[in-house]
This record gives sequence, C-alpha cells and structure tokens, in this order.
Amino acid sequence: MNDDSLEVAIVGAGPAGVGTAVALERLDVDYAVLERDRIGSSFRSWPDEMRLLTPSFPANAFGVRDLNAITIDTSPALALDCEHPTGEQYTEYLEAVADFHEVSVETGVDVESVARDENGFVLETDGGPIRARYVVWAAGQYQYPSSDGIEGATHGVHVANVDSWTEYATRAPSPESAGTNRIAADGAGAVAETVSDVAVVGGAESGIDAALGLAEAGRTVTVLDDEGTWQFRSPDPSEVLSPRTNERLEAALEDGAPIELVADARVAGIERDEDGYVVTTTDGARVRSRAPPVLATGFEGSLAVVDELFAFDGEFPELTDRDESTETRGLFLAGPQVAHNGQQFCFIYKFRQRFAVVAEELGERLGVDTTPLEAYREKRMVLEDLECCEPDYCDC
Ligand SMILES: Cc1cc2nc3c(=O)[nH]c(=O)nc-3n(C[C@H](O)[C@H](O)[C@H](O)COP(=O)(O)OP(=O)(O)OC[C@H]3O[C@@H](n4cnc5c(N)ncnc54)[C@H](O)[C@@H]3O)c2cc1C
Repeated sequence: MNDDSLEVAIVGAGPAGVGTAVALERLDVDYAVLERDRIGSSFRSWPDEMRLLTPSFPANAFGVRDLNAITIDTSPALALDCEHPTGEQYTEYLEAVADFHEVSVETGVDVESVARDENGFVLETDGGPIRARYVVWAAGQYQYPSSDGIEGATHGVHVANVDSWTEYATRAPSPESAGTNRIAADGAGAVAETVSDVAVVGGAESGIDAALGLAEAGRTVTVLDDEGTWQFRSPDPSEVLSPRTNERLEAALEDGAPIELVADARVAGIERDEDGYVVTTTDGARVRSRAPPVLATGFEGSLAVVDELFAFDGEFPELTDRDESTETRGLFLAGPQVAHNGQQFCFIYKFRQRFAVVAEELGERLGVDTTPLEAYREKRMVLEDLECCEPDYCDC
C-alpha cells in the first residue's frame, strides 16, 4: 500500500469495520480496513465456552435480519447452524462475509495515532504512515483490559486472557469445598475469611459467565461485585444480566452449583501468600482464592487512541447525525461506542443500522452514486430517526 492511496481508511476488522466495509463495497470508493491482528480478533480471544448472548435466528426472508448479521444478505444462524455462536464461530462468519464480499482488509497494521491535516488524515502505523481523506474508527470497545484500580491486580488474570474455563479450573489444583476460615487478625480477635477455589471480581456478564464455566468444571467460586448486577432487571441489557445468562445462573444455582454471589463488595486489593491469593474488599471482608482471582472488571475503550479528535458528552463521544465527530470533520465512528441522545448502540443489531448511514455520507462527499445503499433501507437495516428510542424501553 502506498502512503496516500486511500479515500477511506477503516480502522478495525470486527463486525463494525467489516460491516461498514461491506456497505462501502457497494460504492465506487477506494477504501481499506486496517487491522492490527486478524479479522474478528476480539472474538478470537473469548474463552472457548463463551457465546454470543443475542440469539441468531434465520428470519431474513421475513424482513427481520438475524440479530448478529452484519450485512443485509447473511445470517450467522444459517451459516453456522447455531443460535448462540462462540467467539471462534462468529469469527468464521466474519471471515466468510469478508471473503464473499471481497472486502479489502490489511491485517497486521496497528494504527498508533491519527492526525488531521489540510488534506485529510495521516494514520501512523507500525508499518509507516498511511494517508486517507476520511477515517472510520471501528476499533472496538474491548481492547484494553481494565483492572478498575485494584491494588495488586497483577496477581489476578483478566477474563480477556483466559482461553478456556475448563483449563483455568486446573489452576486450583484439586477442587475444595467452599467454607469459612477464621484467621488471626493483627491485634486481638479473628476475622472470617471465605475460601473458594476461584474468586471472581466483577459480577456482570463476563464475571457470571466465568463463574458458570468454573462451577461446571467442578470448582467453588465466589463472585464479588459492588452492585450485584444479578439482582436487578431492566430493559437495558447493558445494565443487567442478559436473559440467557440469568436463565443459566438460575438453573445452575437450583442445581446446587458451588457459586457464592456477594453483592456490595467493592474489591480493594489482591495479595499473594503461600496458600494462594487473598482478595480484600473496601469494608475489610476477605476471600481466599486458591487459583489466581479472575478479573471480570471491564475494558478501556480503543477510543483512547483518538479521543482528542472527539468531544465528549459524559462518557459518550459527540457525533453528528451521520456519526461524524463533531470535533474533527472527516472522522466517523462505527460500533458499540456510537451513542445518540444518551442511547448507546452497544450490540451488533443496533450499531449495524448505522453502517449504511456512514457509507452514504462518505459516498456523497466523494461524489459517487450512493443508490446501491437503498437496499439497506429496503431490507430495514438503517436507523435514521434518532428519536426512535424511548430511553425507558431501549436504553442500550
Ligand atoms: C462477554 C461479552 C459478550 C458479548 N455478547 C454480545 C452479544 O451477544 N451480542 C452483541 O451484539 N455483542 C456482544 N458483545 C459485544 C461485542 O463483542 C461488541 O459489540 C463487538 O465486538 C463490537 O464490534 P467492533 O467491530 O466495534 O469491535 P471489535 O470486535 O472489538 O473489533 C475491533 C477490531 O479492531 C482492531 N483494532 C483495535 N485497535 C486497533 C488499532 N489501533 N489499529 C488496528 N486495529 C485495531 C482489533 O484488533 C479488532 O479486531 C459481547 C462482548 C463481551 C465482552
């Protein structure tokens, strides 16, 4: 690739980058997707047991796109013959889509910074600069594991670094029943110490998924969460457990799975001693973990690389109604960080509805025919009325 060859650079080959590229493929636009690793790398790093929460169902023929589809003409349910694909399976789907649509993806290109100049953008990459007139930032939300300010977090293992819960379970050498120790404290008296094979810090989707995977592998698990997400119900699937996870958790607990859920437990630190690890909470509770504690503590978004090119309204980047940065003309955002009116487009079935909007805007600015994108409207994969979502019913 020479360094001023692109009209549009799309950064990231996850569902947002590949989906936007497929929409652009319909237009006479010179673009490339720049991907630091491989197509679908976020999904490749999921533990083997983890599956998409949103179900795939082959309903395209009835005008209802498969919830996990990123194009108007594909269905992961049909392609993969399953309802809740694993990360590996979903990657297969993304690769098949990229292959079928001959999407131009440059893998092994890490975009380290993006700067605006009078001619467009210069993307500094590990392989040298790349110039582009327009940039679509589609680098995802799950790039940089966060340990939420926990002291001694390096003793734990972030869920992003776990390949399989069955394998992780072997780090607690042999299963032990959960219980309570009384240990001598500094000064007088003794404090209670909960003992389990694995302590999981964080009780949202990935923490509960970890607990279920570890319990299935026969390990006792204590989940510590400052809110206790599992207790709440809401129409916003980003604030509470998804119906699928909730159902799995309830079934496991009814079956006597060795999972202890502790709410109102904000973890302050992790220490290591000769018997394993001790997780302490801000109110002084102690949980002993025989294997390294699992950190299900979330991620820093990849917007960190380009955040000075966006204005922020609280946690959300400010965007025009065409998903362009209000701060930097020519820089667009695709994926789960897109938000309008405080509503975040955080699942594939939501953010995919903006691929054609961004592609159309780029096509118009580049002076090419955008009528091929009408197919997205006909197949109802465009969301343009940003007033459509009632916060109470569609928060995320
Ligand atoms: C536990 C869990 C369960 C989930 N379940 C669901 C679900 O059921 N349904 C759903 O819709 N969503 C689900 N999600 C969310 C889903 O994973 C994200 O919405 C989706 O991955 C976002 O797609 P994306 O293309 O924006 O980002 P990603 O899939 O993260 O892709 C971003 C790509 O950009 C690349 N990249 C990053 N930085 C750079 C850079 N500087 N230079 C070059 N390349 C870069 C990365 O390597 C990666 O390939 C889940 C997430 C988690 C963690």
